Order: sequence, then C-alpha cells, then structure tokens
Amino acid sequence: MTVFLAIVLSAVAMTVIVGVRYLLTSAGFALATRLTRPGHYAGLDEQIRREIRWSLYSAAIYGVPAGIVAWGWQNRGWTLIYEDWGAYPLWYVPVSVLLFLFAHDTWFYWSHRWMHRPAVFRRVHAVHHASRPPTAWAAMAFHPWEALTGAVVIPLLVFVIPIHVAMLGLVLTVMTFMGVTNHMGWEIFPRFMWGGPLGAWLITASHHQRHHDAYGCNYGLYFRFWDRVCGTDRGLGDFASQRRRGGSAGGGAGAGRRVADRVG
Ligand SMILES: [Zn+2]
Ligand SMILES: [Zn+2]
Repeated sequence: MTVFLAIVLSAVAMTVIVGVRYLLTSAGFALATRLTRPGHYAGLDEQIRREIRWSLYSAAIYGVPAGIVAWGWQNRGWTLIYEDWGAYPLWYVPVSVLLFLFAHDTWFYWSHRWMHRPAVFRRVHAVHHASRPPTAWAAMAFHPWEALTGAVVIPLLVFVIPIHVAMLGLVLTVMTFMGVTNHMGWEIFPRFMWGGPLGAWLITASHHQRHHDAYGCNYGLYFRFWDRVCGTDRGLGDFASQRRRGGSAGGGAGAGRRVADRVG
C-alpha cells in the first residue's frame, strides 16, 4: 500500500471515529434531556437538523489532521505521544493533561474572541450562534473555517507537549463531554460544582449559556481564567431566559447577526 493511500485511509478512519463519537455522545445526552426534561427541545427540530449537518462536516475537518498525525505517530515516530508509563515521572501525568487543557483553552479563548469581530462573526461564527438556544447536538456545529481553527490544536500540541496515549484519550474525552454538555441547556453537574468555588474557575453549561445569550462575554472553553484576566467574564447564565428569548428572536443566523452587530 502506498504511503499516500495509507494516510488517506487513516484520515477517513479518523473522520468516521470523530463523527460516530459525536453522534453517540450527543444522542446520549439528547436522550437524557428527553427523559429528564420532556419538551426541553420542543420546536427545535429544524435547528437540530442544522446542528447535526454542520457537526458532521466538522467531523471530517477534525478527522483529516488527526488521521495524518496518527499515521505519522504509528509509522514515522512523529509526535511526543508516549506509551511507556516510565518514560516521564508519574507527577507529570496529571500535569500533561492540565497543560493540554490549558493550551487548548487559551487557543480557544483568543480565536473565539477574534471570531466575534463583526466581519468574522457574520461570515464564520454566526453558524454556531444560529443555535438559539443550543442543544446537545450543537457541540460541533461550526462553519468549516471555524472547525479548521479547532481541528489543528490537538494535532499540533502533540508535537510540543509530551503526553501518554491514555491521557491523550482522556483529554479527547473531556473535550467531547464538555463540548456536548456545555450546550445541552441544563446543568449535568451538581450545584456545588458550578455554583461553588470550583465553578468560579471551571466552565460548565451555565457559563457557556451566557455566552450564547449575551454574545460579548464568556469566551472560554474549560476554564474561566482568560475571561477573568481579560474582564470578559459575566458570570453564569439563566437557562429559562434564553429559552423565552430564543423563541421570540426567531433563531437562525439572522438573529445571531443582528446581535453581533449590536455588541461588536
Ligand atoms: Zn461565540
Ligand atoms: Zn457554544
């Protein structure tokens, strides 16, 4: 098999993995929403179809760089991903996870803030904000340009920060889990977590909810660090208010565009 074909197959395989992972995770949390909060996504069928369509495009965009790097790791010794637990001190194992999450969060915060500049918002980021209110299916509902900015992060970080392959799996699991639950429209975590001291620094659904509601604030992904440092943290959102306004705003990219113009 030629090298080119092997790389293409790896990219296709990774696309399928990312797509199936998205579908299973979002379907699981959408089902949990239906069981615990019947009617929560009522009237959002059209929006959910759009969220799924954009998310599946994103799966391909995420899958290609990941597939190429996975091939290089397996066949050419690329990346600093290691399999021997003894390769680095044990204390480094949790540190590597935090480094990955913090680096990803930093990239996300600044690229996300940039995408809220009116011109970029209109052309690119409005796709994500067309979800009003977002659902468990909105986790990867991004315009392809935005998906590309997200897709390169982890495949680049594995060249810079050493990480055990199992911990990389953990980082990807956290990424998927938080991506889905932050858009779900309700808190899956107990109140002491998001309402207490831990919630002052960690982002969960109530925090990202406010971003979807008010736009010009709460840009972070996992941590409130950059929002706090840069003065863009506006605290936790209120799910009920957005559901009320989501309906009256008419939803769609048009609504997002109007709000972006106002805050931009
Ligand atoms: Zn945004
Ligand atoms: Zn969002």
